Amino acid sequence: MITFDYHSHNDRCGHAVGKLEDYVQQAVALGLTHFGMSDHGPAYWLEGDHAQPTIQMAVSELPSYVAEAVALKERYADQLALAVGIEADFIEGQEEALAGWLAAHPFDYVLGSVHYCLGKSVFDRRRWREQDPEAVFRDYYRQVVLAARSGLFDILSHLSVIDTYAPKIPERLADELYPPVAAAIAESGCIVELNTSCYRKQPSWDAPYPNPKLLTELIAHGVPLTFGSDCHAPQEIHFARERVEELLATFEISPKAQPNRVKRGQIMTFCVPPRRGG
Ligand SMILES: [Zn+2]
Ligand SMILES: [Zn+2]
Repeated sequence: MITFDYHSHNDRCGHAVGKLEDYVQQAVALGLTHFGMSDHGPAYWLEGDHAQPTIQMAVSELPSYVAEAVALKERYADQLALAVGIEADFIEGQEEALAGWLAAHPFDYVLGSVHYCLGKSVFDRRRWREQDPEAVFRDYYRQVVLAARSGLFDILSHLSVIDTYAPKIPERLADELYPPVAAAIAESGCIVELNTSCYRKQPSWDAPYPNPKLLTELIAHGVPLTFGSDCHAPQEIHFARERVEELLATFEISPKAQPNRVKRGQIMTFCVPPRRGG
């Protein structure tokens, strides 16, 4: 059974419910061995202390978030391994600013997310009537590669999230874009999470992020994989983990985990079979 979850939020971001400790207690109750605290970091690229109060924490809240997470990690150390993390937005041209505040805090790991492309949120549904879908897909994956190569992130979150409200990506475009993306990620050493939030956004979907075709490519390139429920309520911790176990089985990957060293600490990852030659 999967016993870890590295993507979680709490009420600081303005769109999740429950205090940080409520999540930790639920992780203990579920019998998790490893749990990552990774609330949405501040909108560091925008003016002001709290530019997006319903999306992310304030700049001024960051020190108290980290202090609380560090204190919980110590307090619960005999019950599970807590990791102090953050979900940070990748914003092209703002890498130095991001590196600055990440270095100022004792994070065990950083989730890297591309949430914006061509000037809009990846969840903006109207864009698909206003922008050329192919240009959107190209820009999204171009930024994913930049994020992987930035050296700022340990785990890349919810890859292919751009699919959420999009028309289906044309096969020939996926065939063109995915292999170099997977190669760049493999070279970067980043871990990719199997993120189950799409089951909540699109209940009819039968696969987590990244989509099956991209996931196949990542596995072929030997990219290490981990699990993230992207929970926004304590009861969403471990969300749909049995569906991920079934998916892993189809790739002959055991849900058994091994520790994987990342830049800042250690992340449990699935045992992906070694890359096949050819
Ligand atoms: Zn969120
Ligand atoms: Zn996200």
